[in-house]
Amino acid sequence: MIRTGISTLALALSFAAAPAIAQKKPAATPSAALTTAAADAFVAEAEKALGDFSIPASQAAWVNATYINQDTDALQARFNSEQTELQVKYAVEAAKYAAIPGLSPDTARKLNLLRNSLTLPAPTRPGAAVELATLTTRMSSAYGAGKGTLDGKPINGSDIEAAMGTERDPAKLQEMWVSWHDNVGAPMRGDYNRMVSIANEGAVTLGYKDVGTLWRSGYDMDPAAFARTTDTLWKQVEPLYQALHTYVRWKLNEKYGDAVQSKTGPIRADLLGNMWAQEWGNIYDLVAPKGAGDLGFDTGELLKQKGYDPVKMVKAGEGFYSSLGFDPLPETFWTRSQITKPADREVICHASAWDLDNKDDLRIKMCTKVNGDDFVTIHHELGHNYYQRAYNKQPFLYLNGANDGFHEAIGDFVALSITPDYLVQIGLLDQAKVPSADKDIGLLLKQAMDKVAFLPFGLLIDKWRWGVFSGSIKPNGYEAAWNALRLQYQGVAPPVERDETKFDPGAKYHVPAGVPYTRYFLARVLQFQFYDAACKQAGWTGPLHRCSFYGNKEVGAKLDAMLKLGQSKPWPDALEAFTGSREMSGQAMVDYFAPLKAWLDLQNKGKPAGW
Ligand SMILES: [Zn+2]
Repeated sequence: MIRTGISTLALALSFAAAPAIAQKKPAATPSAALTTAAADAFVAEAEKALGDFSIPASQAAWVNATYINQDTDALQARFNSEQTELQVKYAVEAAKYAAIPGLSPDTARKLNLLRNSLTLPAPTRPGAAVELATLTTRMSSAYGAGKGTLDGKPINGSDIEAAMGTERDPAKLQEMWVSWHDNVGAPMRGDYNRMVSIANEGAVTLGYKDVGTLWRSGYDMDPAAFARTTDTLWKQVEPLYQALHTYVRWKLNEKYGDAVQSKTGPIRADLLGNMWAQEWGNIYDLVAPKGAGDLGFDTGELLKQKGYDPVKMVKAGEGFYSSLGFDPLPETFWTRSQITKPADREVICHASAWDLDNKDDLRIKMCTKVNGDDFVTIHHELGHNYYQRAYNKQPFLYLNGANDGFHEAIGDFVALSITPDYLVQIGLLDQAKVPSADKDIGLLLKQAMDKVAFLPFGLLIDKWRWGVFSGSIKPNGYEAAWNALRLQYQGVAPPVERDETKFDPGAKYHVPAGVPYTRYFLARVLQFQFYDAACKQAGWTGPLHRCSFYGNKEVGAKLDAMLKLGQSKPWPDALEAFTGSREMSGQAMVDYFAPLKAWLDLQNKGKPAGW
């Protein structure tokens, strides 16, 4: 996760406050005439104001996240709402300037970024903003306070999420799944419907057809063409997903029997180790191939044996980027970051990467433990920091990833390089302990249970919302459309019948919180594309999943060429700078998992496929 000057998190959390303030400036008429010179001046003013404000806003957010109390909550809320006030004001004005003919490419680009910066815009008519704020706050709070039940007793969101990963009793899984979806989703159905119509009105004010079009307009291409691009990517990876689905369904049938999971048709959504069936890694033990499931070493144990503490783990992460030729992290990174959980106060432990001054005040915020997962997370978070530093010479409005899939993909692609050979190179693993090739299937299957299983889910959340915002999915068909998409793309079905009194989309955080989701789908695909490019540049000729480009300065230089562009150019330019290609592609992911696909096809022989 990343926290930037224009923070997606802040946007997600603060749109509730925004509309109320927007109302104070109802017409938001540009003060100057609509000329290209006035547009240039407006952009300069907006960029300066937003850039200046982002620094104290980041400071307030940092201190709030690392020292939670009533005072820092109040500071954070105040900076949030003031920041959103600015964003709303400039978005509405930018929409008017954007139509002027003859704008310079930079001014046109920045006007679009300004216009596109709010995910759920309120219309300017009296009352609408307050109503939207009320609805969104109510839904977010309801989600946060939501509870399901386990053994008839209430259980909160994070606990029920964890329990879905470890519980193996199908009756209990069903109880948790149904209670969560009934208690959290269903009550917000009316609010969601109302929110859709108000936010759509706001999108029209900004010059978009509807909110879905606004969301799809952030990709330097026609919104309809972008939707087709996501379909193309999906078609590339779909056979891989289908093979995994076939294999996992068979294993679940073996475990639970026909009465719980039949040999054909969709997989019961509550059996996959996750409330939303979005990542299946939690049930890896149920599907692990005999003998190949155990890698023969545990990164966490290796770290402990070699005397690593959390700071030393972060130093190792820094070492990876240094090996590519990136400068060491600034001294302030080490004194200002939260690397471990403070003993004496409340903090947000969820890992994130920050740039406090839009220059080089880089930090991470983690509650690092000495284990393999956190070792990977460190490499991921530092990817955000090196991206932030690489583009820090860009103007404020360009301080972001090339598109919203890029930022998450950078850290993930570097983390893919944490192979056994890399662990040998940094002295963690003995050469003799490097797992033989027969362990590769287990390694790949474990990865696929999370990364491949996620793809259809990453795609369908916004497929549903695009349909809802455009009106092709009607309010009286919300639930049916959701379940139809879940069936079509994921091949999963709810454990019990659902009807239109339910609202299962509301039981997933990003829906009530109004956070677009396609970025996560893109990031999953892009990370393999980046990895493939790096490995080719490094001259790697073996199986893709065994490649590490540690120590390769040529890869580092190419990567830097992409990173330093930030959001200043259309994303195909950035992609080309690193990979040589102007198109996002799922082929690298297919290549990475090719040995697994071959193995799955063998296992699946003669078994029913599809649903
Ligand atoms: Zn991240």
